[in-house]
Amino acid sequence: MAANLGIQTVGEAKELRGLNLIAAHSHIRGLGIDIERLEPRASSQGLVGQLKARKAAAVILQMVKEGKIAGRAVLMAGPPSTGKTAIAMGIAQSLGQDVPFTMLASSEIYSLEMSKTEALTQAFRKSIGVRIKEESEMIEGEVVEIQIDRSVTGANKQGKLTMKTTDMETIYDLGGKMIDGLSKEKVMAGDVISIDKSTGKITKLGRSYTRSRDYDAMGADTKFVQCPDGELQKRKEVVHTVSLHEIDVINSRTQGFLALFSGDTGEIRAEVRDQINTKVAEWREEGKAEIVPGVLFIDEVHMLDIECFAYINRALEDELAPIVIMASNRADTRIRGTDRQRSVHGLPVDFLDRVVIVPTYPYNQEEIGQIISIRAQEEEVELSADALALLTKIGKETSLRYGSHLITTSNLIAAKRKANVVAIQDVQKAYTLFYDQARSVKFLQEYESKMIGDDGAAEMGLGG
Ligand code: ATP
Repeated sequence: MAANLGIQTVGEAKELRGLNLIAAHSHIRGLGIDIERLEPRASSQGLVGQLKARKAAAVILQMVKEGKIAGRAVLMAGPPSTGKTAIAMGIAQSLGQDVPFTMLASSEIYSLEMSKTEALTQAFRKSIGVRIKEESEMIEGEVVEIQIDRSVTGANKQGKLTMKTTDMETIYDLGGKMIDGLSKEKVMAGDVISIDKSTGKITKLGRSYTRSRDYDAMGADTKFVQCPDGELQKRKEVVHTVSLHEIDVINSRTQGFLALFSGDTGEIRAEVRDQINTKVAEWREEGKAEIVPGVLFIDEVHMLDIECFAYINRALEDELAPIVIMASNRADTRIRGTDRQRSVHGLPVDFLDRVVIVPTYPYNQEEIGQIISIRAQEEEVELSADALALLTKIGKETSLRYGSHLITTSNLIAAKRKANVVAIQDVQKAYTLFYDQARSVKFLQEYESKMIGDDGAAEMGLGG
């Protein structure tokens, strides 16, 4: 099983990804809502403000929990840095810690070394978790016979152990497995032991009556007697969540599971996926696994083309579909892959029909201040009151994202002068060293007109 191959579980993968993509949202712990009333709290679980969108997200969450989201997708529409990604993450977090969250920037699918539909299929399957239950069965009983394989040396001797439990019927033959502690010195016939079936660890509980005089009293034909507390017991349950994509990769003979670490999984054959789907269906039926639909977040969705939309349209109908949340900051734009068909957010009309649209609005100064303050705490940066005030002003006048970036850079500047607290002059310095978009554009435009002139700029590909 995947979980036994040292593969990351969904939770671990999230932690690793935290180093890059998810890091900007590491302060988000949920949607920050009062579950009973479906009301968002002003500031909770890392989320601040954006109350209408969070209320809508809470309703969506409820639909997901009641299984009513199937066939639909969500579109977060709003200007940059208004929390579209943050709220999508909040939904995933509220569904549970092991619920997968996958982020796909639409333009990515044109640069990967695989077809667009393969890239989408992988993104969909990364967003569906399989919660696999592994029961660690403890069996207790009396050792009937031990045969040690003499050719195997070392502490973990290999051998065959036959034991009898209370049901008087079953003999547990653990032959061929590595059994921890299986040696003549430690365990003998007649000992009462318990074995953890998943690890093979043996614990000696005592001696049975078999070798005592009770044994003789029972008659020579009675080979087995009831062991004290010798019931078959299920003691522990270990749960791992892996994504369908991870199971695909492990079972794809061309790549092998090491591809999970490099990310270089290439295309996976349709037969492999069919087999996995059948296997997972069997596990579900046997009660060994359950499906955990996660969240697939597709950013800049207007960058997808008509073929991709056709794929998503179909995939949403699938029994194994994640919750698809898309984001766009374009109003009316051309649908990629068509000559001049235009549409709202660049989505084809039949696809728009399936979409619930949630708008996000720019933040006010107070909310920006709170978000920057939460980000600073998350990054373990201490800001003086006036440094926070300046960062807030910058965040309001430029963008929240730029304001947040300056936390890290200001902190590095403060550290250079061996200060533990970021002061206003550190923020001022960072502001002059790193430009926001507007200043960057202005700088280039001034530079072009001074140094090259409009015609030259166009020739050099600098615009104009
Ligand atoms: P874009 O359109 O540029 O992709 P976006 O709308 O997805 O932007 P985010 O990336 O979610 O915006 O937000 C920018 C930063 O601000 C992130 O670090 C995010 O976690 C944080 N943020 C946004 N909204 C909130 C909020 N309401 N509460 C707390 N943090 C937020």
